[in-house]
Amino acid sequence: MTREKVIKELKKFFSIEELVCDHTFQKYGEKAWRFFDTETLLTLLIVRRDIINAPLICNTETSHQRGLRCNLCAIVKSAIKHYLSAHMQGKAFDLLCKEYTAAQMRKMIAEKQALLPVPVRMESGVSWLHIDTFDPTNGKQKIVFFE
Ligand SMILES: [Zn+2]
Ligand SMILES: [Zn+2]
Repeated sequence: MTREKVIKELKKFFSIEELVCDHTFQKYGEKAWRFFDTETLLTLLIVRRDIINAPLICNTETSHQRGLRCNLCAIVKSAIKHYLSAHMQGKAFDLLCKEYTAAQMRKMIAEKQALLPVPVRMESGVSWLHIDTFDPTNGKQKIVFFE
Protein backbone atom coordinates (compact mmCIF):
# COMPACT_ATOMS: atom_id res chain seq x y z
CA MET A 1 0.00 0.00 0.00
CA THR A 2 1.40 3.41 -0.91
CA ARG A 3 1.96 6.06 1.76
CA GLU A 4 -0.77 8.20 0.21
CA LYS A 5 -3.26 5.33 0.42
CA VAL A 6 -2.30 4.52 4.01
CA ILE A 7 -2.89 8.13 5.11
CA LYS A 8 -6.15 8.30 3.17
CA GLU A 9 -7.39 5.15 4.93
CA LEU A 10 -6.19 6.31 8.34
CA LYS A 11 -8.07 9.59 7.98
CA LYS A 12 -11.29 7.56 8.14
CA PHE A 13 -10.35 6.74 11.74
CA PHE A 14 -8.10 9.53 13.01
CA SER A 15 -7.56 13.23 12.39
CA ILE A 16 -3.94 14.38 12.56
CA GLU A 17 -4.85 16.49 15.60
CA GLU A 18 -5.57 13.27 17.50
CA LEU A 19 -2.11 11.88 16.76
CA VAL A 20 0.30 14.78 17.41
CA CYS A 21 0.86 17.21 20.30
CA ASP A 22 -0.70 20.68 20.29
CA HIS A 23 2.62 22.37 19.50
CA THR A 24 3.05 20.29 16.39
CA PHE A 25 -0.56 20.66 15.27
CA GLN A 26 -0.52 24.43 15.72
CA LYS A 27 2.65 24.77 13.66
CA TYR A 28 2.05 22.18 10.97
CA GLY A 29 -1.67 21.36 10.88
CA GLU A 30 -2.40 18.72 8.23
CA LYS A 31 1.26 18.74 7.20
CA ALA A 32 2.10 16.99 10.47
CA TRP A 33 1.45 13.59 8.87
CA ARG A 34 5.04 13.94 7.60
CA PHE A 35 6.44 13.15 11.05
CA PHE A 36 5.24 9.55 10.98
CA ASP A 37 6.99 7.00 8.82
CA THR A 38 4.85 4.89 6.52
CA GLU A 39 5.37 1.60 8.35
CA THR A 40 4.25 3.13 11.65
CA LEU A 41 1.14 4.59 10.01
CA LEU A 42 0.39 1.27 8.33
CA THR A 43 0.79 -0.48 11.68
CA LEU A 44 -1.72 1.90 13.26
CA LEU A 45 -4.12 1.31 10.38
CA ILE A 46 -3.89 -2.49 10.62
CA VAL A 47 -4.31 -2.41 14.41
CA ARG A 48 -7.34 -0.11 14.19
CA ARG A 49 -9.08 -1.55 11.14
CA ASP A 50 -8.11 -5.21 11.03
CA ILE A 51 -7.21 -6.27 14.56
CA ILE A 52 -9.14 -4.24 17.16
CA ASN A 53 -11.87 -3.13 14.74
CA ALA A 54 -13.33 -0.60 17.19
CA PRO A 55 -12.84 3.13 17.78
CA LEU A 56 -9.45 3.94 19.32
CA ILE A 57 -8.63 7.10 21.22
CA CYS A 58 -5.11 8.51 21.06
CA ASN A 59 -5.07 12.09 22.38
CA THR A 60 -7.74 12.45 25.05
CA GLU A 61 -9.50 15.58 26.25
CA THR A 62 -6.93 16.05 28.97
CA SER A 63 -3.74 14.66 27.43
CA HIS A 64 -2.39 15.63 24.04
CA GLN A 65 0.99 13.92 24.31
CA ARG A 66 -0.13 10.41 23.50
CA GLY A 67 1.08 10.22 19.91
CA LEU A 68 3.91 12.41 18.62
CA ARG A 69 5.69 14.44 21.29
CA CYS A 70 7.97 17.38 20.58
CA ASN A 71 10.64 19.09 22.67
CA LEU A 72 8.09 21.59 24.02
CA CYS A 73 5.85 18.85 25.46
CA ALA A 74 5.82 18.71 29.26
CA ILE A 75 6.72 15.00 29.37
CA VAL A 76 9.81 15.70 27.29
CA LYS A 77 10.72 19.00 28.94
CA SER A 78 10.50 17.54 32.41
CA ALA A 79 12.58 14.47 31.61
CA ILE A 80 15.67 14.49 33.80
CA LYS A 81 17.21 11.29 32.52
CA HIS A 82 18.12 10.59 28.91
CA TYR A 83 14.89 10.65 26.91
CA LEU A 84 14.61 9.25 23.42
CA SER A 85 11.10 7.86 23.41
CA ALA A 86 9.50 6.34 20.35
CA HIS A 87 6.85 9.04 20.89
CA MET A 88 9.42 11.69 19.91
CA GLN A 89 10.28 9.86 16.72
CA GLY A 90 6.75 9.51 15.42
CA LYS A 91 6.84 5.78 16.06
CA ALA A 92 4.49 5.35 19.03
CA PHE A 93 0.88 5.73 20.05
CA ASP A 94 -0.87 5.40 23.40
CA LEU A 95 -4.36 4.14 22.69
CA LEU A 96 -7.57 3.59 24.60
CA CYS A 97 -10.73 1.82 23.55
CA LYS A 98 -14.17 1.91 25.09
CA GLU A 99 -14.86 -1.69 24.11
CA TYR A 100 -11.65 -3.40 25.21
CA THR A 101 -9.16 -2.95 28.03
CA ALA A 102 -5.50 -2.42 27.21
CA ALA A 103 -4.74 -5.98 28.31
CA GLN A 104 -7.44 -7.33 25.98
CA MET A 105 -6.06 -5.26 23.10
CA ARG A 106 -2.51 -6.50 23.71
CA LYS A 107 -3.86 -10.06 23.63
CA MET A 108 -5.80 -9.42 20.40
CA ILE A 109 -2.70 -7.99 18.74
CA ALA A 110 -0.56 -10.89 19.92
CA GLU A 111 -3.09 -13.38 18.55
CA LYS A 112 -3.22 -11.65 15.17
CA GLN A 113 0.45 -10.68 14.96
CA ALA A 114 0.71 -12.24 11.51
CA LEU A 115 -1.27 -9.22 10.24
CA LEU A 116 1.29 -6.71 11.52
CA PRO A 117 3.37 -5.24 8.68
CA VAL A 118 6.47 -4.77 10.87
CA PRO A 119 7.59 -5.86 14.36
CA VAL A 120 6.19 -3.86 17.25
CA ARG A 121 6.87 -3.26 20.91
CA MET A 122 4.09 -3.03 23.48
CA GLU A 123 4.37 -1.80 27.04
CA SER A 124 3.12 -4.40 29.49
CA GLY A 125 1.25 -3.76 32.71
CA VAL A 126 -0.15 -0.33 31.84
CA SER A 127 -3.79 0.70 31.52
CA TRP A 128 -3.33 2.02 27.98
CA LEU A 129 -2.09 0.34 24.84
CA HIS A 130 1.39 1.69 24.07
CA ILE A 131 2.44 0.34 20.69
CA ASP A 132 5.54 1.42 18.78
CA THR A 133 7.60 0.26 15.82
CA PHE A 134 11.03 0.01 17.43
CA ASP A 135 12.50 -3.35 16.48
CA PRO A 136 15.02 -4.42 19.14
CA THR A 137 15.38 -7.99 17.83
CA ASN A 138 15.95 -6.97 14.20
CA GLY A 139 12.93 -8.90 13.03
CA LYS A 140 13.50 -12.09 15.05
CA GLN A 141 10.35 -11.43 17.08
CA LYS A 142 7.17 -9.85 15.80
CA ILE A 143 6.23 -8.55 19.26
CA VAL A 144 8.44 -7.48 22.13
CA PHE A 145 6.91 -6.56 25.50
CA PHE A 146 8.72 -4.07 27.72
CA GLU A 147 8.12 -2.46 31.09
ZN1 LIG B 1 4.74 19.20 21.82
ZN1 LIG C 1 3.56 5.43 25.13
